[in-house]
Amino acid sequence: MKGLERFDALVEAFSALPGVGKKSAMRFAYFVTMSDSFAGMRLASAIDDAIRLTVRCKQCGGLSEHELCEICSDQNRNSDTICVVENAKDILILEQSGAYEGLYFVLNEMSEQAVSKLADMASVIGAKEVIFAFTPGLSADAIMFYIEDRLSNLGLKFSKIAQGVPTGVSLENIDTLSLLKAMQDRMKA
Ligand SMILES: [Zn+2]
Repeated sequence: MKGLERFDALVEAFSALPGVGKKSAMRFAYFVTMSDSFAGMRLASAIDDAIRLTVRCKQCGGLSEHELCEICSDQNRNSDTICVVENAKDILILEQSGAYEGLYFVLNEMSEQAVSKLADMASVIGAKEVIFAFTPGLSADAIMFYIEDRLSNLGLKFSKIAQGVPTGVSLENIDTLSLLKAMQDRMKA
């Protein structure tokens, strides 16, 4: 609207978020500017802090506020297993489910560098098993096959979370119980 450039810019910014349509964006913008500007300020400062202070863990690639994330530096985690996930968001989902007590590795993008990093991590922590928690599909199979081949000299066991996870469905769309079961029923990759 004319004369409301800043408000419009805020609506634009909200509607750029995943899953937020124009209508919701407008409601959010109205809420933080007019209904509860304190909540708005809190949101602005939380976004600013999170962007500045959240980095990738040097070892696993997960979200962290330090060089090593909470999970990698937690002595009580089971360092026998590394769960390989597609992106850092999957760690948040698996952690929420409480289905897993080992360490993680974020593949992000399949590259030689990423696979070497995984091999290094497996050696450093003395891992015994690599568990793949990928969205099932052809490319996932190909990636697992490649990684198994590349890491074949490390004496690791390879498994993948059970097929209860439907083909093409990403982890964030699976309920906690199914995820728990998929982790428990993991099988040889
Ligand atoms: Zn980490």
